[in-house]
Amino acid sequence: MTELLRIDRRRLWASLVELREIGAYDDEATGLRGVRRLALTDADAEARRRCVQWMVEAGLQVRVDRIGNVYATRPGRDRSLPCVLMGSHIDTVVTGGAFDGTLGVLGGIEVLRTLNDAGVQTLRDIEVGFFTEEEGVRFGTDMLGSAVTAGRITLDHAHKLADDDGKTVKDELVRIGFDGAADERRPIPHAYLECHIEQGPILAGAGVDVGIVEGVQSISWQRLTVRGEAAHAGTTPIDSRHDAGLVAAGIVVEARRMCDSGEYGQLRATVGNLAVAPGQTNVIPHEATLTIDLRNPDDALMTAAEQHLAGYLEAVAAEHGVDIASERMAKTAVVAFDPGIQGLLAATAQDLSLPFVRVMSGAGHDAQEIAAICPTAMVFVAGEHGGISHTPREYSNPGACGNGIDVLANAVLRLADEA
Ligand SMILES: [Zn+2]
Repeated sequence: MTELLRIDRRRLWASLVELREIGAYDDEATGLRGVRRLALTDADAEARRRCVQWMVEAGLQVRVDRIGNVYATRPGRDRSLPCVLMGSHIDTVVTGGAFDGTLGVLGGIEVLRTLNDAGVQTLRDIEVGFFTEEEGVRFGTDMLGSAVTAGRITLDHAHKLADDDGKTVKDELVRIGFDGAADERRPIPHAYLECHIEQGPILAGAGVDVGIVEGVQSISWQRLTVRGEAAHAGTTPIDSRHDAGLVAAGIVVEARRMCDSGEYGQLRATVGNLAVAPGQTNVIPHEATLTIDLRNPDDALMTAAEQHLAGYLEAVAAEHGVDIASERMAKTAVVAFDPGIQGLLAATAQDLSLPFVRVMSGAGHDAQEIAAICPTAMVFVAGEHGGISHTPREYSNPGACGNGIDVLANAVLRLADEA
């Protein structure tokens, strides 16, 4: 076994703390300092420049592609071989924290600093990168930069996406100076590794800092519109109503019942948006709109859940004499990560004497896009407060971050020396 690398945890932490200040805001709901760094805003631009500066200081060769993804290369002995790529994102949601995405990027830079300090020369190039608009908050499509790189979304389509003010991705890339020249369909890497906070409670519950991610669960989003009939709340008999609000409430309860039934495996169903119209105290609602977010780590069980839901909608519509229209907002199948790289991560964690668990990701990540072009896997790092994320309460302690990036460092080193 080759000697194990240990990253400089204090240097990694100092970088995380420094980047946290770019886009920092005072969060009223929590009383904490949060991070608001939406993609291609001035704050994002400043954070991008800071990361590029760190990359340059580490002696890396930096390039920017046409969707604004940034890559930095540490050359290997054989430049003709495909590189090992690490990456994640530095954009945040409106009420973000200091770790989501950022840990994988700053951790990746720290891995390369550590290789520099140790004087290690690898066979293959190693790159660290960050992808544009992972969160999808500003331009409405998440994993945008990585999806373009993987070929799922065309560059032209991505460039034309606009925010609520009508500003396009292309114009904003130009404005902030990250409209690069490199081909967005980058050279295919030998492997892609992403370290990311878990954003859930499983690792902490198991008492471990590190998770090895088996894949990303399937996601299905629908928007439902229930159309009934408005009528007087006091004079309309109960049995002659077409109450869109009542039907919507039934759908919410049925979604939960489906989860509790166990028939659909580890299904998670959420109605996160529900509105009734006309919204008057004394008027039976004629319309209800709601969204349903379904997640499942099993494609077949997801299909079964969707079919059951469709059947329920049909039945409840007939029962109440209402019309229900459904519009598909998003659907992604389960993405399974590379078993070989998962095995390498497991062996690496064992060599580092770090206990770990294997988990499916409940959230979407750039890795699920890049998995379409090369062998890919992820390392999760435990978070505190139940792994809460997308809030300033998001927190992973320095030890957990250091352990996760140690796994990343040694796995990348092994991959970069594979012939
Ligand atoms: Zn993220």
